[in-house]
Amino acid sequence: MRLIVSVAVALALAVGGAAPAQAAEARPLEGAVIALDPGHQLGNSNPRFAAQMRQTRFNGTITKSCNTTGTATNAGLPEATFNWRVAQQLKRLLEDQGATVRLTRTTNTRSSWGPCVWDRGAFGSKAGADLLVSIHADGAPSTGRGFHVIAPSRIAGWTADIAGPSRALANAMIAGMRDAGATPTTYLSSPLSVRRDQSTLNFSDVPAVIVELGNMRNRADAARMSTSAGQQAYARELAAGISRYCAVQSRCR
Ligand SMILES: [Zn+2]
Repeated sequence: MRLIVSVAVALALAVGGAAPAQAAEARPLEGAVIALDPGHQLGNSNPRFAAQMRQTRFNGTITKSCNTTGTATNAGLPEATFNWRVAQQLKRLLEDQGATVRLTRTTNTRSSWGPCVWDRGAFGSKAGADLLVSIHADGAPSTGRGFHVIAPSRIAGWTADIAGPSRALANAMIAGMRDAGATPTTYLSSPLSVRRDQSTLNFSDVPAVIVELGNMRNRADAARMSTSAGQQAYARELAAGISRYCAVQSRCR
């Protein structure tokens, strides 16, 4: 009898009005456009591209060069490759929830360089994105671990338009990532840093943050960063932060 009732309920759901609501809930990021920036590029350390790397531009606070090579684990996993792999996993997770995802770079290879930080920063508005998340990993003293999020200071003529919403994005990332099980930094006094010297943030015209997912020089973080299961976990944590931000109506669509 119970089985027959269940079948009847299932049939009623299938023909009734419940299905569209369920579909919307399964794709909560439908309509959102999300820009992801996998930090650095493998070819940034290729001497062939030294001249490109030496280009400089003023970022509202200081003059900085095009880009850097990034850090690495002691075993030699480059930050560029870690950032790239997490971004690929994160892209899939966000697309599964209905988002459109755009990446600042489409390769991770020794035969490519950049893009420069000013182009990464400007990418969000070019792509029509609601927000920009720049994915990085830190190279800090080996005793510390955990993630932190960097938001831009308010700089007149540069970030005055995005400083407030970027702070909201940073706070949502921190709350969402913690809820998803991420370890906040043990080597900084707060998981939120507000800085005026980051070109990727200063050149952005959409809410933007840099997430330093962990410390590549720390044994525990490096071990997690080096497996595909670990990279998937970082991607899930980032997705939880983005979902938290976009859950507030009209932020992402
Ligand atoms: Zn980095």
